[in-house]
Amino acid sequence: MLGPPGAGKGTQAARIRERYGLPHISTGDMLRSAIRAQTELGLSAKAYIDRGELVPDDVVIGIVRERLGEDDCAKGYLLDGFPRTVEQARELERFAAPDMAILIDADAELLVARISSRRVCPACGGIFTSRETTDGVCPQCGGTVIQRDDDTEATVRTRLAVYEQQTRPLIDYYAERGILRRVQSMGSIEDVFRKVNALLEQQLR
Ligand code: AMP
Repeated sequence: MLGPPGAGKGTQAARIRERYGLPHISTGDMLRSAIRAQTELGLSAKAYIDRGELVPDDVVIGIVRERLGEDDCAKGYLLDGFPRTVEQARELERFAAPDMAILIDADAELLVARISSRRVCPACGGIFTSRETTDGVCPQCGGTVIQRDDDTEATVRTRLAVYEQQTRPLIDYYAERGILRRVQSMGSIEDVFRKVNALLEQQLR
């Protein structure tokens, strides 16, 4: 799953996991849990994430390589937010062959608005809007929702610029390999999921 911050990659990935039982591998989630656990990885990643910059390629490549070696990934998996640079994509090809790259795209203004009102539940990984969680309670598991530290407007602008510079080239990269599929992230989560699901069904047929 490829796309700018706030386009809905994580939300759609969670729906795909539910429907197809594929392991959902989100480098953002892995890095955030390393930060919470205060591991060495977390400590080194935190400053980059807080500034809205990318964590160095060798660090994320290492954690993805390790994760893909686990048993549950033997029959397939869904990568969410990785690769994010051409270098990461090249490295990924050394140990995996992606079948499809789904670009979830949306206009910049919509992204800023969505991210500023995004709330997440660290306990279950749920993603919601501030309107759905006015009481601060996770509608999915009853946990406490929070706003991600990097979901402030200033950081979001940096993240969008970083996306344009470092991640957008991956669109051509996967288009040239014939595996890029595009979905415009408009309408409800369900509307977008219908389009994503149609692509997956084509692929699995
Ligand atoms: P996300 O949850 O996918 O929006 O990721 C949050 C932050 O984690 C990003 O802004 C980056 O700082 C870092 N991050 C996540 N995935 C990657 C990646 N593939 N390469 C570099 N940094 C990443």
